[in-house]
Amino acid sequence: MVKFLDLASQYQSIKADIDAAIATVIAETAFIGGKHVARFEEDFAQYQQAQHCIAVGNGTDAIEIALEALQLAPGSEVIVPANSFIASSEAVSRSGHRVVFADVDPQSYTLDPADVARKITPATAAIIAVHLYGHPCDMDSLLELARAHGLRIVEDCAQAHGAHYKGRRVGAIGDLGTFSFYPGKNLGAYGDGGAILSNDASLARRCRMIANHGRIEKYNHEFEGRNSRLDGLQAAILLAKLPHLDGWIDARNAVARQYLAALADCPGLALPSIAPDCRHAFHLFVIRTGQRDQLAKYLGDNAVQTGIHYPIALPALQAYAGRALPDATPFSVAAAKELLSLPIGEHLSADDVERVARLIHTFMAAQPQAHS
Ligand SMILES: *Cc1c(COP(=O)(O)O)cnc(C)c1O
Repeated sequence: MVKFLDLASQYQSIKADIDAAIATVIAETAFIGGKHVARFEEDFAQYQQAQHCIAVGNGTDAIEIALEALQLAPGSEVIVPANSFIASSEAVSRSGHRVVFADVDPQSYTLDPADVARKITPATAAIIAVHLYGHPCDMDSLLELARAHGLRIVEDCAQAHGAHYKGRRVGAIGDLGTFSFYPGKNLGAYGDGGAILSNDASLARRCRMIANHGRIEKYNHEFEGRNSRLDGLQAAILLAKLPHLDGWIDARNAVARQYLAALADCPGLALPSIAPDCRHAFHLFVIRTGQRDQLAKYLGDNAVQTGIHYPIALPALQAYAGRALPDATPFSVAAAKELLSLPIGEHLSADDVERVARLIHTFMAAQPQAHS
């Protein structure tokens, strides 16, 4: 079986450190707040090259809190890519703003700056730049649009821990960056977790207060916030995993390079590309083909697990019926029927990758369009 994700084998490879971290937190009863959370915030900020890190409950909360901290005018329009997980847009509506979808670029699957420009109106206040699949957005173009139109940028880095854009790690290139530590992410906790990064001290302070009932001191609440926190066990687990993250991302890139070489001449497939001056975090390795469902079934029948990210573009979801026009983001809506995520991760051997690539070649060679 070629697994899509193998958290058990990752745990086995670092079991002693994880078990010790958990035992320490329990012995210290450092369940909420405390030194493990503080140390994780420091180490993660340093790893992502940001000045401030606020650990929160999950990646969805992180986006909501970041948006709230920006204090946009109520009802502002916020531009979100049409191809993403619903958290990217949900956070906009939840914080009282209006979602406006923009299409993604067919090469990088991240926001197409030209379409973002078309979607800007006088009511636009922010852009959610999702570094989807681990590939950084075209930040220079988005920053340029933001400067020209007075917009804020929240980077949704839930899939992009460790990704670089022109020599900088993602997360503090825009105003605020948000992360998820959902177990299956490149840096995953053993439960829920999230973080917000920023180089802006006052925005960071506001995020920290919102996540902690609007307070800085115990019972001194300056405003109503909410409760969203990373717990001590998750912080200690993440601290034990963080030193391995770059090695795991390198392993993902090695798998990606092997797929790219092995599938380069495969007809009927669109392969992911890597923009110059970027380090792709390869949370997902996504190919595109008109025979997606048949290929996924063929791989499944041959003991290869795959995924689809995402089967329905956000504007086409029932959740946005009457609020979004799927026709306004044609590439994302059409691509949702063709995207297929192949297994990727440090759990794969070169033989596994070769087997997957060989199966894909065999399947595609039997397709009529392969010969056209
Ligand atoms: C996983 C994910 C989120 C949400 O993170 P949670 O921790 O599950 O709330 C947000 N955006 C994107 C792009 C994601 O992949």
